[in-house]
Amino acid sequence: MKFIWHKFDPSSLKVRLTLGIAIASVCSLGGLAMWTGMRMQQILIATHKENIKYIADRFADDVRIYSDMVSLEEGTQRTVDNLSGNNKVLWVKTDSGEVTAKSLVLQDKAIADILLPLNNVPPIPHVQDLQGRYWLLCASPLEIDNNNLGKLYIGQDITDDQVMLLSLMRSLSIATLIAISMMTGVIAVYVDRSIRPLKRISQITSNISAEKLSEAQVHLDNAPREVKELAETFDEMLTRLSESWEHQRQLLSNVSHELRTPLTIISGYLQSTLRRGNNLTEIQREALTTASSEADRTVQLLRDLLDLARVDSGGMHFQLEPIMVNDMVKEIIEMAGQYSDRIINLESSANPLIIEADVNRFKQIMLNLIDNAVKYSPAPNPITLKIEQYQNRAQIQVCDKGAGIPLTQQGRIFERFYRLDEARNRAGGTGLGLSIVKTLVEGMSGNISVRSQLGEGTTFTVCFPLA
Ligand code: ADP
Repeated sequence: MKFIWHKFDPSSLKVRLTLGIAIASVCSLGGLAMWTGMRMQQILIATHKENIKYIADRFADDVRIYSDMVSLEEGTQRTVDNLSGNNKVLWVKTDSGEVTAKSLVLQDKAIADILLPLNNVPPIPHVQDLQGRYWLLCASPLEIDNNNLGKLYIGQDITDDQVMLLSLMRSLSIATLIAISMMTGVIAVYVDRSIRPLKRISQITSNISAEKLSEAQVHLDNAPREVKELAETFDEMLTRLSESWEHQRQLLSNVSHELRTPLTIISGYLQSTLRRGNNLTEIQREALTTASSEADRTVQLLRDLLDLARVDSGGMHFQLEPIMVNDMVKEIIEMAGQYSDRIINLESSANPLIIEADVNRFKQIMLNLIDNAVKYSPAPNPITLKIEQYQNRAQIQVCDKGAGIPLTQQGRIFERFYRLDEARNRAGGTGLGLSIVKTLVEGMSGNISVRSQLGEGTTFTVCFPLA
């Protein structure tokens, strides 16, 4: 049902064009067929009408000629007999309703019962359907030499002609319907073929991502000129977008690089001043501590931005070498201990696990996850790192007992700049850490996932293939 609705989506260009052209052809072909039918009927009846009018006009003169030889009644009857025949019947009826002369056919009671009782017949011939037969009828006053003879009725049975005309009109309607359906079918196919290049453009453009901007090109063969022009405009726009994207990346990379060095120096000076400044007042120490931690935070942000710029420009390289996960994680826990006094436990399987990874990037991943665990779980809750073999992979888990992450947001925390609701997220951060971690893990053929329960804690699991 959904499929059919999709095919007949009234907002689609294909349906609109097909319907529009189909309606136009129904109107024009239908109108033409109707006009032809009406015209044919007019021509057919017009001939009979002329004939009847001619008889009505000469009737009185004919009676007059006969009445020179016979009586007026006799003359009327002879004229009636003379002009009857060929599906034509005549009768004369006085004002009191008495039939004084009639065609021989009217001796037949069946026909007489239909025609003779008719009154109110108009003087201009018109078609009447009388018990399944079509009659062209007219009546005009008959007065000869000041003698009022009543009315002369003339009837012409046109049933055969009318039946033929109706069957002709039926055939015409069927032919028109067939022509319209065939035209609609052909139009639908034609419209579908004509808008295929447009569909192709939308297909190609839907697959273009920021990373592939420079390679993206909309190539169309055999497309109409207008669509080709559209594709060319698209290509030009993609080139401009790619250039400006490249500029932006370059700018981000340059700015991050240029700012990182002076800020690292500032941070170093602040820390050494804090260490050596024995005569600092409490307020000065507080101000310097705040400045130092803000400088550190900014250096971290710049480092993240630089990493992102490298990832985007494809400049992130990994120097893979075999590393012993168990020893490396122990070393990382010791490093983390220098920045935080949180207790970090290690649960490790006995057998040593070796993976192929870039040592510095591996450390960056683990320190980032440990840093998050410390930031987003309250002291003194400990952090636990677990190492185990899972099938042919080394699995490292970083577990905390923090507030947890709502299920709806668990899929989004790996997006750039995504952070949970500020109110629940008081620890400072940039929202870049996890997206870089994910890129690094995947860059070394691993994967990362998160499991979290609100109020109970969060576990990040990183897996790498064993070497
Ligand atoms: P940030 O610099 O904000 O820490 P991240 O990319 O590292 O950026 O993390 C994105 C968001 O994911 C964080 O803002 C935080 O809300 C949430 N998050 C990350 N790790 C944890 C965790 N261990 N417990 C709870 N929330 C977390």
